[in-house]
Amino acid sequence: MSFDDTNERRAFALPGSTLHYGPDKTVDVEHVDLHLVPDLERLRLEGVCTTTVRALDEPVSVLTLDAVDLVISSVESDARKLKFTTRGDRLDVHFDPPLAPETTATFAIAYSVENPRHGLFFVEPSTEYPKKIRHAWTQCQDENARYWFPCLDYPHEKQSTSATIAVPKGQFALGNGALVERRDEGGKTIFRYQQGIPHATYLVTMVTGPFVEVPQAGASVPTYYYVLPGREADGERAFGKTPEMMAVFEERLDCPYPYARYSQIAVSDFIFGGMENTSATTQTDRTLHDERAHLDFSSDPLVAHELAHQWFGDLLTCRDWSQAWLNESFATFFEGVFREADLGYDEYIYDAFEWVKRYLDEDRRRYRRPIVCNDYRDPIELFDRHLYEKGGAVLHMLRGELGEARFWRAIRRYVRDNAQRSVETIDLIRAIEQATGRNMRGFFDRWIFSGGHPQLCVGANYDAQRRALALTIDQTQPVDLQNPAFAFAVDVEVDGRRVRVRIEREHETITIPLDSEPTLVRFDPGAFILADVTYALGVRFASAALAGDPSVVARIRAGRELVKDGSAQARSAVEAAFKGDAFWGVAAELAGALGKSRAAWARDLLVGALAHPHPKVRRAVADALGEFRESAVAKALIAPATGDASYFVQRAALHALGKTRSEKAFKILRDAARTTSWNGVIESGAALGLGELADPRATPLLLELTKPGGDIATRGAALLALARQAELLESERAAAVDAIAGAIRDGNFFIARGGVLAAERLADKHFLAPLDRLAQTGFDGRLRRDAAEAAARIREALKTPAAVTGLRTDLDALREEHRKIQEKLDAISRA
Ligand SMILES: [Zn+2]
Repeated sequence: MSFDDTNERRAFALPGSTLHYGPDKTVDVEHVDLHLVPDLERLRLEGVCTTTVRALDEPVSVLTLDAVDLVISSVESDARKLKFTTRGDRLDVHFDPPLAPETTATFAIAYSVENPRHGLFFVEPSTEYPKKIRHAWTQCQDENARYWFPCLDYPHEKQSTSATIAVPKGQFALGNGALVERRDEGGKTIFRYQQGIPHATYLVTMVTGPFVEVPQAGASVPTYYYVLPGREADGERAFGKTPEMMAVFEERLDCPYPYARYSQIAVSDFIFGGMENTSATTQTDRTLHDERAHLDFSSDPLVAHELAHQWFGDLLTCRDWSQAWLNESFATFFEGVFREADLGYDEYIYDAFEWVKRYLDEDRRRYRRPIVCNDYRDPIELFDRHLYEKGGAVLHMLRGELGEARFWRAIRRYVRDNAQRSVETIDLIRAIEQATGRNMRGFFDRWIFSGGHPQLCVGANYDAQRRALALTIDQTQPVDLQNPAFAFAVDVEVDGRRVRVRIEREHETITIPLDSEPTLVRFDPGAFILADVTYALGVRFASAALAGDPSVVARIRAGRELVKDGSAQARSAVEAAFKGDAFWGVAAELAGALGKSRAAWARDLLVGALAHPHPKVRRAVADALGEFRESAVAKALIAPATGDASYFVQRAALHALGKTRSEKAFKILRDAARTTSWNGVIESGAALGLGELADPRATPLLLELTKPGGDIATRGAALLALARQAELLESERAAAVDAIAGAIRDGNFFIARGGVLAAERLADKHFLAPLDRLAQTGFDGRLRRDAAEAAARIREALKTPAAVTGLRTDLDALREEHRKIQEKLDAISRA
C-alpha cells in the first residue's frame, strides 16, 4: 500500500504501546565488576556480579535490579549475607539497616544462567552446520544485559566496569576497556579488563572463542580485530581502514578517541550488523569478505558507523531510547563523513541522497513518526529508517543551515560539554546556541519533534519579454490547517549567482530579473533540504543541469525529469549522461529511471550498458532490465548471469533473467541455485529469479533452498521467491504457505524474519495465526514488531479481493441494465 498523496499514514504505535520514560533513581551505580566463567560446551555462564551503589537523597531498604532467568545463589556484602527475593524479571536486594543517603554499599551476587533467551548467545556446530566453530557473544542493546548479569539496565545509568573472564587455556575472551591482565592458570586463561570511563549496561560485552588476534598499526590507541581461524585475510579487507577512520573522526571532533583500546570482533549468527560495545565492537562475520566481493562491497560504512558510536552513544549516551537518534543518526552521518574524507564529496552527498530515499520508502510503506518518540512496545522498534537515515539527513541539513565552520564548531562543543554524560536533544540545541548563537529550536521542532517532510516540485521558466526567470517551488503534499506548508530557507543559483530565499507557502514563485535566458538554474545546490524533490525544469534547463550541474543530486533529479519526458532532445541528454557522467551514482540512478519508463529506447540503452566498467552501474542496469519481459533482454542477461566479475551484478542478472521468463532461464537459474558463493549472493539471485519464472519446476528447488544447512540469506530469499511463485501460480500456493508458515515458527531470528517478509508478500490468511503468535511471543522485539505489522497489512489486503468482487457485481449489473435498454431500443426500432 502506498500513501503518496495523502497525509494519512499507519500509526507507528502498535496496540499495546505505552509512553516510556526512564525510570526514577534511588541510587547511583558507581561500579560493576564481573567474574565470568562461560562454558561453551554446556551453554552456561557462572558469574559473580559485584556492584557498588551510592544512595541518593533517601534511605534505601530495597534495591530492585533487572535480572531475567538468572539463578541467584547468594548476595553478600562484606562477608555478610543479604536477603534477596526474585519476582518475574526483577531481583530485590534488601538492606538492613537501610543504606543511608550519600553512603555506598558493595554487594556481590553469585548467579548462573543456562542458554538464555536473549543477551548471551552460544554458537555451536550442528548436524546441518557441522563447520560452525564454537564461540559465544553477548548483545545487550536495548535492554538485554539483564539476561546475563543483574543490573540497573537503562541507558541513563552509567557506571565504570571491570571484568575477569576465565576461559579454557588458549581461547580468547574480550571485554570492555583496557586489558590489564592475561595469564594462564591451571587449565584456564584468565583475562582481566577495566573500563574506567562510565558507560551504560547496554554497552557491556563478553565474547569468547578461539579467535585470532590481529593488531592494527597507526591508530592513537592499541587497535585490534579478531576473527575466527581462517578469516584473517577477509578481516583485513573488512577492518583495514579502522586506524584511518579514527584519525578522521578525532580531527573532525577535535576529541581523541576516548578509550584505552579499540577492538572489533567478528562473530557468527550475529543478530545485528554491528554493536558498538564500549571500546570493543562486535561485528557480524558476514561483513568479512573475499577478493571478488571487495570489488563492489565495502565494510567501511559499518566499521565507520560503529567507530563513530564510540563518541556518539558510548561517550555521550542517549538518556532514554526516545533520544536514540543522538546515537544512531550521528553514527549514520559519520559513515558519510568518513566516505567524504576517503572518497570525496560526491560519495558523501550521494550517501545523504540515499538516506533520504530509504527514509521516504519507510514513510510511504510503513508509517510516519517524529524522530523523537516515546510511544512504543519495545525500544528496538525505534531503530528504523527514521532513527538512522532520516536523522542522518537532518544532520546533513543542519550542516547546510549552519554552514561548514559553525556546524563543526557546534558539534565539537556538543561533544566537549557532554562527554561521559547522558544526553537529550536539548543538550545539542544548547551546544549549537552556545557555539554559534543560533537558536535552532524551530528547526528541531520541525524536523526532530514532528514527522513528515515536504514534497517539492521545482519548475523554471524564462520570460524573454519581461526579462525575468520565474522559479516555482510547489509543495505538493496535502497542505491544510493541521499540516501547514513547510517553511525553510534555501539557496538558488542562476548562472553562478547565488541567492538565499525563504519558502513559506504552498506555492512560491521567485522572480529573478535577467537580461537573457540563463544556462544553468540550480535549486538547493548543496542538496540540503530533506524533501522528496521532483524537477519540472523543462527539457532545456534539465538538459543543462544533467550535463553541467556540479551537484550529483541535481543531475539525478534532472535525469529523472528527462527520462520521464522522453522527447528526442531529452533522450540524447540522458544518453550522453548515462555514458559519460563522471560519477557512477548518476548512471546507476538513471538506470533505475530508465527501467521504470519501460520504453524501447530505454531498454536499448540499458542493454548496451551491461558492459559498463563500474560494477555498481552494471548492477543497477541488470536490476532495471528486470522491467522488460523480452527475449532480446533475456539474451543480453545470460552473460552476466553466468559470470560477471561482481557477485552482485551476477545476482541482479539472475533475478532479472527470471523476470524475463525466457525458456533458457530455468536451466541457468537451477545451476546457479546449486553453487555455493560468498554469503549466498549467487544462490539468492537464482532463488529470486526462479520465483519469477511462473514455472512449477522451480518449487522443489526453492523448497530445497529454504532447508537448514544452506546460507541464511539464501534461505530467506528462497522464502520470498516461494511467495512470489505462489502469487503467479495458484497451484504452488499450498507448498509455499506451508514453508513460509514453518519459517515464521522457526526459532532462528533470520529465518523467522524471512518468513514474516514472505508472508506479507503472499498475504494468505493461513499466516495470521503464526504471525499473531510471533507478535506476542517472539524472542526479539523486531520480530514482534514485524510480525504485528505484517499481520495488520495482510488483514488489510484480504479485504481487497472482496472490494474487487463488489466492483465486479456493480459492473455486471450495469451490463445487465445496458442489455435491457438495448433490447428496448431494438424493439422500438423494430416497431
Ligand atoms: Zn548504530
